[in-house]
Parts: sequence; structure tokens; C-alpha cells
Amino acid sequence: MISDKMRPLVANNSAIRQMFEEGLRLAQEYGPENVFDFSIGNPNVPPPDSVKEAIIDVLNNMDPIKVHGYMSNAGFPETRRAIAGNLNKRFGTSYTEKNIIMTVGAASAMNVILKTILNSGEEVICFAPYFFEYGNYIRNHDGVLTVVSANPEGGFMPKLDELEEKITANTKAVIINNPNNPTGVIYPEEVIKELAALLERKEKEIGHPIYIISDEPYRELAYGGAVVPFIPKYYANTIVAYSYSKSLSLPGERIGYIVVPDESDGADEFIAAATIANRISGSVNAPSLIQLAIERCVDEKCNVEYYERNGKRLYEALSELGFSCLKPDGAFYLWMKSPVEDEKEFVQTAKKYNILMVPGSSFAGPGHVRLSYCVSYEQIERSIPKFAELAKEYF
Ligand code: PLP
Repeated sequence: MISDKMRPLVANNSAIRQMFEEGLRLAQEYGPENVFDFSIGNPNVPPPDSVKEAIIDVLNNMDPIKVHGYMSNAGFPETRRAIAGNLNKRFGTSYTEKNIIMTVGAASAMNVILKTILNSGEEVICFAPYFFEYGNYIRNHDGVLTVVSANPEGGFMPKLDELEEKITANTKAVIINNPNNPTGVIYPEEVIKELAALLERKEKEIGHPIYIISDEPYRELAYGGAVVPFIPKYYANTIVAYSYSKSLSLPGERIGYIVVPDESDGADEFIAAATIANRISGSVNAPSLIQLAIERCVDEKCNVEYYERNGKRLYEALSELGFSCLKPDGAFYLWMKSPVEDEKEFVQTAKKYNILMVPGSSFAGPGHVRLSYCVSYEQIERSIPKFAELAKEYF
């Protein structure tokens, strides 16, 4: 018999995953070229050749006992050193391997961080709309999710006045995700500075740290030279969760890392606790082969232009058809207003045209839908006549 904790999770299994399964079913029925699946964030760009070459090199030239063996629960020191070096070069920090903990992607990084900081009943704040798994991750560690409402009038920037009202003595962390899934916006430096000033003031008032957990799987995906602020530079109690799932198209390899800056509260104790949390989560350590390969690819560039071109095409085409879309600054998601109040009804109507998208309520953003455009450019082109038919139902 399954636990009471799991029962609601089974009942409300992820809408994104369900849509993905639906896409596979429709592709079998109608042929993949006639299905326009914008549901899941599974990158369509192949990983850089250097990743494959690094994997082969590691396999051919390194001691197999090392390649396939256990290592420190925080990961290989040389991999962590290479990552620290990359961050130092880009952001002017002075990290060493000590500040980096290798994880099984960002999902695991988030869970390790939450396990490290949360006592039962402590609160973690998210800004709607947000990546829905955050609620599950927080509950995994007996935390309580507090949601700051969405800010459609303010370009979906975080509502800082509401944040201030919602911080209590029990608040332990605020999660931010920049560039953002599902809206595609980037919070600029002024917003981060304001957020940092507010949290510093609140920390003093309540007498304990409030962490920013900066979830950054889309850090490299910023368009037109937009700058994604590196949060630890603005706020000492920042813990970063990073992933190579999107930047190097490696979601199935499950590789990412945590940054614990020396400036953060009790950094050494935090690092020790997070390393143990990594072990006892059941992951033990991040996968060894891909850690060693990543070490050789830390300076590799993400193919941002590919996503930018897709985003531009989809945004312009759908706007021209009459849909109201938020112009994406980064990541690979288009956030679109549903032409009817109940966006689930709109998602069902779109399915008639074999167009799959995710209802905004799956991100605490009802009245909107998310289109994930990490697909081929051809899929976008082929989908436009279908969107035109869909638009005719509304405009
Ligand atoms: N955080 C956000 C905002 C995401 O969109 C995702 C995946 O889509 C993750 C975390 C999890 O990423 P990973 O594959 O690295 O676990």
C-alpha cells in the first residue's frame, strides 16, 4: 500500500509529463510530422561534439577504476575545480573546489539544498508562475510552500511588496529562477538589487538567514546579449543550483552542481551538510563518467542562437495571429495568454489541431499557456498554419 504522502502525487501526476505521453501517442496515430508538441523542455539541439569526444577520451585514456568508481560524495575534486575556475573567470569570484558540489542535475541540487536547510514547517517562497516541481521538492523535506502572486501588469517580474508581506519568522528561503521557466523573462540587475536589499532588511528583522536559492538551468540561455545577474554577487546568502541539462542538452545524463559561496552563512557547515544530503538522498554522488567529461567542457558554449531564432519566429507568428504573448528574453519558453479564461479548455481545443501545450495552472499561472520551443525550426514552421486555424476559433 502506498503512503498517504504519495497518494495526491499519483492523483495529480505532472500535466507536462501527461502531455508528453499524449504527444507520443498522437505521433503514432498521425505521424510525427503532423504533431506539434510544445509541451516538454527536452532540448532539440544535440550536445556539442566536445562532450562526445570527452566521453570517448575519458573511456579510452583514464583508469577504469577511477572512471567508474565511487569518489567523494561532493564529486571529483578536479571537476569541481574546473567549474570553480569557469565561474571565477566569468563572474570575478574566487571559488575553489570546496564551494562546488556535483549533483544529479538541478532537480537533485534543489532537493539537496532544501534538505540541508529546512526544519519541518519552515517556509519557502516562490514567485508565481513557477516550475511546479518546487512545491513537491519543498514538501519532500517537510517545508511549506508560500506563493507570491503573478505580476502580469509588471511583465511577470517578482512582486516585491507582496514578498515583504509574506515573509515571516518561519521563512527560510526564496526560490528564484532566472531566466525563467515558464515565462521566458530575465530579472534584470535592478530587480535583483531590490530583492537583495529587501531580504537583507528582513534577515535583520527576523534574526536569521533567508537564503536565495537561485535555480539556474537556463543561465546561459539569454537572448540579444541580455545579462543574467549572478546572484551571489548581490546577496551573500545565495545558494546556486545549476544544471547542464539545457545548456549542453544533457538532461538524461543528470549532471549539475551546487555553489555554496564562502560569504553565505555558516558556509563550511553548509557544505558538509549538503554533501551528506547528496549521499543520503540516494544519489550518493553525481554520475562519474559525465562528471569527468564535463570537466573537459566547462567552457563550452550553449547554442543560444538556435533557441533565439525559434522563439522569435513563434512569438512573431502567434502575435500576428492575434494571440497575446510575452516576448521571451531567454530560456526556451513562450508564455501566452489564453484567449478564454479557462486555459485548460483552450489547451483541449488546440489538441484538435494536434498542437500540444501546457496549461498555465501547471505553473500556478492560470489564464496562460506555456509553449516550449526547444523543438526543430521546421516544427515551428509547420505548426503556424495549424495555429492559424486555432486562432480562427477565437479572433
Ligand atoms: N528547474 C527548472 C526551472 C527547470 O525547468 C528544470 C527542468 O526543466 C529543472 C529545474 C530540473 O532540471 P534538471 O534536468 O537539471 O534536473
